[in-house]
Amino acid sequence: MMTNAAGEPTALVTNIQKYTIHDGPGIRTEIFFKGCNMRCIWCSNPETLSALPQLGVYPAKCLGRQKCGRCAGACPQAGSPIRFDADGVIKSIDFAEYCEGCLRCAQACPAGAVKIWGTSMTVPELMKIILEDKAYYERSGGGVTLSGGEVLLSAEFAELLLKECKKEGVGTCVESALNVPWERAQAVLRLTDLLITDIKHMNAEKHREYTGSGNERILRNIKKAAEFGVKILLRTPVVPGFNDDDENMRATGAYIRDELGGAVIQYQLLPYRKMGTEKYASLCMEYPIGDRAVVPRGEWENKIAELAAMLTDEFGIPAAAGSGNKLPL
Ligand code: SF4
Ligand code: SF4
Repeated sequence: MMTNAAGEPTALVTNIQKYTIHDGPGIRTEIFFKGCNMRCIWCSNPETLSALPQLGVYPAKCLGRQKCGRCAGACPQAGSPIRFDADGVIKSIDFAEYCEGCLRCAQACPAGAVKIWGTSMTVPELMKIILEDKAYYERSGGGVTLSGGEVLLSAEFAELLLKECKKEGVGTCVESALNVPWERAQAVLRLTDLLITDIKHMNAEKHREYTGSGNERILRNIKKAAEFGVKILLRTPVVPGFNDDDENMRATGAYIRDELGGAVIQYQLLPYRKMGTEKYASLCMEYPIGDRAVVPRGEWENKIAELAAMLTDEFGIPAAAGSGNKLPL
């Protein structure tokens, strides 16, 4: 576990979203941890993939090198990693060649044109933010959701944080792909009221091709979580041409019915939409899915609704289209 100069446990957080309503019951505070051990080609949160702090560059916010230039002035490499266009507007940062990752350019920028992704935070710092909205959680049946990236790569820290939430009577939800050793997941799930996890594909090779990782450990862990007694909100991000065929959908329905008992309170089919393009550009990263999988929105949502109805009818599982359905808790 990481610690700060005072020896306190820390984790890198990319975002804290307040008043969220889709990732667990009621009104929630959602915390996104940095670092992920999968590489799904449709990922819309590229800033959470690396476990290290990163810089995002937003040219539209730049005041211009002539008027400002503080980033280049703060850079120990005499500004050489920072690229400007012909008008003196920041364009990119050459992370690969020259940048030593000191983050001074972002700290110096007065306009937010260079943003640091990944803030080191302690449990008390996060609890202070979480508890600001305790009254909302109590009124709505909400609480905190730990997400990512993959929060279970920071499992020891998550455990400490969830213990504090429990002490304060704050509801707990963990969103994880469960692609970690079971023991690491179990320690966190012990303190979790609701697990949000997903089945991306039932075929291991197809899963590996599109996510960088096989599905064997994930499916084993979902089954173990069901046996462990934690309530599960199961999801599939349905991506055109990857996992939307009848064969895969029926294999998923049979797995839920035959292997997970009554642990799944809802199985949500999430219609894939390409999001996060600006974040990829700011990080100088290619969006791996490119222009594949673009289907008109209405058409795609109808198909997802049909798939959900088919799964409910044929397998008797609580399938639903989208993440906006009320949870039976
Ligand atoms: S992170 Fe540091 S080395 Fe890299 S561009 Fe910014 S100031 Fe320069
Ligand atoms: S410090 Fe920020 S606003 Fe100023 S030139 Fe650099 S990127 Fe632009």
